[in-house]
Amino acid sequence: MDLELPIYVAGHRGLAGSAIVRRLQRAGARDIVVRSSAELDLRDQDATDAFFRTVRPAYVFLAAAKVGGILANATYPADFIRDNLAIQTNVIHSAWKHGVRKLLFLGSSCIYPRDCPQPIKEEYLLTGPLEPTNEAYAIAKIAGLAMCQAYRRQHGFDAISAMPTNLYGPNDNFHPEHSHVLPALIRRFVEAADTQAGVVTVWGSGKPLREFMHADDMADASYFLMNHYSDVAPINIGSNDEVSIADLAKTVAQGAGFKGQLAWDTTKPDGTPRKRLDSSRLLDLGWKPVVPLREGIDDAVAWFRQHAA
Ligand code: GDP
Repeated sequence: MDLELPIYVAGHRGLAGSAIVRRLQRAGARDIVVRSSAELDLRDQDATDAFFRTVRPAYVFLAAAKVGGILANATYPADFIRDNLAIQTNVIHSAWKHGVRKLLFLGSSCIYPRDCPQPIKEEYLLTGPLEPTNEAYAIAKIAGLAMCQAYRRQHGFDAISAMPTNLYGPNDNFHPEHSHVLPALIRRFVEAADTQAGVVTVWGSGKPLREFMHADDMADASYFLMNHYSDVAPINIGSNDEVSIADLAKTVAQGAGFKGQLAWDTTKPDGTPRKRLDSSRLLDLGWKPVVPLREGIDDAVAWFRQHAA
């Protein structure tokens, strides 16, 4: 990447986009372009096209998306499929049309079939049925990935797709019901520790396994891929840090200083039993994550206490 040229980070206020902005600043990028959703609604095709026509970014990190946890996905599937299809279609098309040199599209590990072999290799995409709780979101993300591939094939557009594992860190969505598990637990355990509550309720059976990655590691990988990867195949960004939800809850409880008991609400869905990414394609290129889960959770707890609590 030429760090003198304008770089557009779509979704700069979110967990992934804000981490990418921090990474680019650290690299010395001169012209990082951002727009809040109030300034530019990426679901609006004309507004998005006018932005690309006038600003003419050279590089695009497409981290703008409607995201949410298992309950939000199950409750608002129409919003998840519509908003994400619109955002990515508008951005990828206008980026190509107005001469962007390279674009990175961020997907998600939930695009892979629910019951595929573990760890999950990139080539398992579209080999089986999806997890129903986030199917609308996953189908939108698969369409974005396919669009990057199609624009590369037909137009020679250098669009790459990366599939990060479950992310957490600063600027996460800490909504009590609609967030992902890690921010939800951070909020619940911090609030319980502060009010000296005796019991904290966690959803599901505690048995599902999830792999977590700090957003700073994902941002570092994204920057690395923009410099070193140019291929039609999507590439996984995983940490190999896999834990059960039960162990995760214990770690967050410790990090938050909660001393009470855990209760399990088994009326809430477990979702997919396991989704660990095989990241050997990325690791073989010479990149590796550096934030251990325990340290990352402490960092996210501290961030939440400072900003969101
Ligand atoms: P997923 O990775 O797409 O399934 O999304 P989530 O991060 O929302 O959920 C991961 C797992 O954590 C599921 O098995 C949930 O049932 C479990 N979980 C436990 N407590 C919570 C909670 O408070 N919020 C959320 N979102 N998930 C929870």
